Amino acid sequence: MRRTKIVATLGPSSSDPQTISDLIDAGLNVARLNFSHGDHESHGKMIDLIRSIAAEKKTCVTILQDLCGPKIRLGILPDEGVELRKGELCILMSEDSAETDALPVQYENLEADLKKGDRVVLADGTMELTVESIHGKRVVCRIVRGGIVFSRKGVNLPSADLSVVAFTEKDRKDLLFGLEKGVDVVALSFVRSAADLVKIRSIISKDKNPPLLIAKIEKPQAVKNIDEILPMVDGVMVARGDLGVEMPLFDVPVIQKVIIRKARREGKVTITATQMLKSMVDSNLPTRAECTDVANALFDGTCAVMLSEETASGKYPVEAVKVMDGLARATEQHVISEFSLKSDEHVTDKKNIAWAVGRSACWLAKDLEAGAVVAYTESGFTAASVARFRPSAPILALTPNKRTFTKLNMFWGVVPGLTEGFHDIEEMFSTAAEIAVAKGIAKQGDNIVITAGVPLGVKGSTNMVKVYEI
Ligand code: PEP
Repeated sequence: MRRTKIVATLGPSSSDPQTISDLIDAGLNVARLNFSHGDHESHGKMIDLIRSIAAEKKTCVTILQDLCGPKIRLGILPDEGVELRKGELCILMSEDSAETDALPVQYENLEADLKKGDRVVLADGTMELTVESIHGKRVVCRIVRGGIVFSRKGVNLPSADLSVVAFTEKDRKDLLFGLEKGVDVVALSFVRSAADLVKIRSIISKDKNPPLLIAKIEKPQAVKNIDEILPMVDGVMVARGDLGVEMPLFDVPVIQKVIIRKARREGKVTITATQMLKSMVDSNLPTRAECTDVANALFDGTCAVMLSEETASGKYPVEAVKVMDGLARATEQHVISEFSLKSDEHVTDKKNIAWAVGRSACWLAKDLEAGAVVAYTESGFTAASVARFRPSAPILALTPNKRTFTKLNMFWGVVPGLTEGFHDIEEMFSTAAEIAVAKGIAKQGDNIVITAGVPLGVKGSTNMVKVYEI
């Protein structure tokens, strides 16, 4: 049973029913829909399709909506592109007022937010400029790294203090659509501080069963402010694509380790993303370095690994998921340890009853070599309180709530199960045992450790541990 979760981005290479079905069979846990592309109609159809295929297979696929945030792009350029020669000057202007000799940028505060000496990075870091001077609306830049630039390529302004809000009007509309469709996880791009998350958190919190909120860590400010960002979110994504453009590439490996470590201490979900198996966009085999990168993310302690263009537009989407699955299975048996149990590092709040109960359930499971830790959970909270301690035993998370069921699948080590509500606790114990056996997680004679909040159905009340012999 694999504990690490696999997130795959769906796109043109993976939007037909057969490929989605094959991706699920290959081990897909979480389908990521990238709202930088596509419209509500196409995303809505895709959500319905994924859900109907998952239901047919009697399995669970979590839907992650990735909101594009304030992504800045170039405007329209000639089809053949524009050549930028190293050492020469080029002019940038906001698209609304761009003159013919300037590169148009789709950002209205361009000249106000930039200052002399700021870096401007184009097209995923392949080209770089430095601001030399600003005259009215004309931003004069020196070309540090040249190349040919095309329409709508990305523009990163890492050193500028951007006045744009992180949660844009497009994000708000996309989020409302996502909430209506009942997405399980929402990720926001280009978060810089806790303040960037206030609006989105307040909208999400009004939902009856809110999706998990993930902050994508891809700006230097987010790395600096990670301690204030973590309490606002359910998890973080180490978004190495933009992170490697916004910050020196050489710093990315250490930032990945620091972010995962801090997020784990707070019991937050972690997703390691981008270029994990990049060569598989064109090849049916990964490189040795890519295999090692995926394995190292697991050693860093990530909950999930993510595929982007490999599955969205690559030639071998299903093979890429199979490779992730194989790598995770081969590696995680060397990673899983009860380190989190032994070290107080993972109990940042000693008075938190749910965490203490979750930790005790994991200790019991270890001492008794239990078949499973079963978490009965209405909102997912009890299961998260167990998952943060990374037990060796599988975590069977049972819930009567369909929304919670699909959200649970995002957590490390959790096998979600949908049940009826229970009238009394004895009925819950025996049903938990039946489901553990039916799913092949435990067998007759095994002990299982059951945890829940009593009275059942009250969020955040995790307070009970029971050893049950099947
Ligand atoms: C990234 O930059 O690594 C990332 C995951 O974000 P996106 O794919 O939206 O650019």
